[in-house]
Amino acid sequence: MALYEHQSLKIYNSISGEKEEFKSLTEGYVGMYVCGPTVYSNVHLGNCRTFISFDLVFRYLKHLGYKVRYVRNITDAGHLENDGEEGEDRIAKKAKLMEIEPMEVVQKYSVDFHQILEKFNNLPPSIEPTATGHIIEQIETIKTIIDKGLAYEVDGNVYFDVMKYHENQYYGKLSGRKIEDLISNTRELAGQSDKKNPQDFALWKKAEPQHIMRWPSPWGVGFPGWHLECTVMSSKYLGDQFDIHGGGMDLKFPHHECEIAQGHASNGKDPVNYWMHANMLTLNGKKMSKSTGNNILPRELFTGENENLSKSYTAPVVRFFMLQANYRSILDFSDEALSAAEKGFHKLMESLATLQTIKTSTTSDFDVSAWRDKCYEAMNDDFNSPILIAHLFEAVKQINLAKSEKIKLSKKSLELLSKTMNDFIFDVMGLEDLEENSKASSNTDDFEELIQFLIEMRNHARLNKDFETSDKIRDKLLEMNVELKDSREGTTFQIHS
Ligand code: AMP
Ligand code: ZN
Repeated sequence: MALYEHQSLKIYNSISGEKEEFKSLTEGYVGMYVCGPTVYSNVHLGNCRTFISFDLVFRYLKHLGYKVRYVRNITDAGHLENDGEEGEDRIAKKAKLMEIEPMEVVQKYSVDFHQILEKFNNLPPSIEPTATGHIIEQIETIKTIIDKGLAYEVDGNVYFDVMKYHENQYYGKLSGRKIEDLISNTRELAGQSDKKNPQDFALWKKAEPQHIMRWPSPWGVGFPGWHLECTVMSSKYLGDQFDIHGGGMDLKFPHHECEIAQGHASNGKDPVNYWMHANMLTLNGKKMSKSTGNNILPRELFTGENENLSKSYTAPVVRFFMLQANYRSILDFSDEALSAAEKGFHKLMESLATLQTIKTSTTSDFDVSAWRDKCYEAMNDDFNSPILIAHLFEAVKQINLAKSEKIKLSKKSLELLSKTMNDFIFDVMGLEDLEENSKASSNTDDFEELIQFLIEMRNHARLNKDFETSDKIRDKLLEMNVELKDSREGTTFQIHS
């Protein structure tokens, strides 16, 4: 029986504003889509927070035994400068600035993005599609929406007809925005564009001669609107309806609101069952952002080279700092908070080492099973990592008491405690003990050096026709799962696990 069958996971659904019992569309499987980065500059720490928040979700769902298909796109076309309908494509603008091809910009910053997320120990998504790889599908979806009478073409541009859609559906159901307010807020722009109504948004835009990212379409040469790519890629890989859609809070409107409208317009269904929005990382009380320059780059954290930092921090410490806040709360970045997180992180890692040294008794004073339930309850309550961490620190306290023999722990309790700590710290929270890992790898180096030495001893024995010793060495190593292979070039070894 899978773990999820014993747990009742609740997810805060942004569309209802409530925590709802999670039930996947297909038992045992979860489809999750998260809006990925626009790869026109180095990923900043704010972006990382959002992707770490959804990595926690991905990891916990997997831990519960779900088979998760996690799709996270790369936006490499169509995202204009001011998130709206006007301005230059962010990637093309950077390409001009750097005097390189737009796809060189995409490659450079996609590589950076992957390297940084790997440092933070984020698991890669199951599929990572790009907008430029799905232009044909985007054109097909636009045709469908036009056929349904919910989009119109004007002079090479195709717009989604929000008012027409709103006659039967509620445009604003996710963001809570009222269509009347949208109309009055955008009134001054009316008449300045070729749209029927200013709140209509572009599905396809005509490329002006200077626009270098361009594709042919039934409406002329142009490029797809930013909102459309996520509708197309999510439905292509997860179906017209899927379980979870995530992204940063700032994407709720217009991006996700438009995704609902596009999905419904083309398939007659709301595409997503659970909308999840991760809150922002702030610096000096203001949102970290690429465009304003109010941000910290992860590499600056790892080297300590930033005016906001007193020293460098490792990726697991930064990840731990982020997980100390609930993903739906704003988190303000500061050197002091990070330094406090570092102390907490080390305490947690030390307690894992202490666990190995505890002497067990026949009875237990700490109810590990009840404590373990509380850890699951915290995660089942909309992935509440700060509460989980509080429970882990309760265990740290008990581990220290057991170490100094102030409380007793049975062998069974100790095993369950150890397994639960490891499960939550490494599998679910995705933390890494870099010091332990480097100790382990230097242990491996030492072991290999020892094998080399024994091979030399064996060669020496063979030269002296002392086959008893040489066989003994080979057999002993084999007992330790080390197989020696002799060839004309010499002796090599293979360690079998
Ligand atoms: P972008 O590359 O700007 O499209 O952003 C990629 C993701 O990072 C989106 O889901 C954004 O909502 C998210 N994001 C941007 N700034 C922040 C921030 N300061 N804190 C948390 N998430 C952010
Ligand atoms: Zn998106």
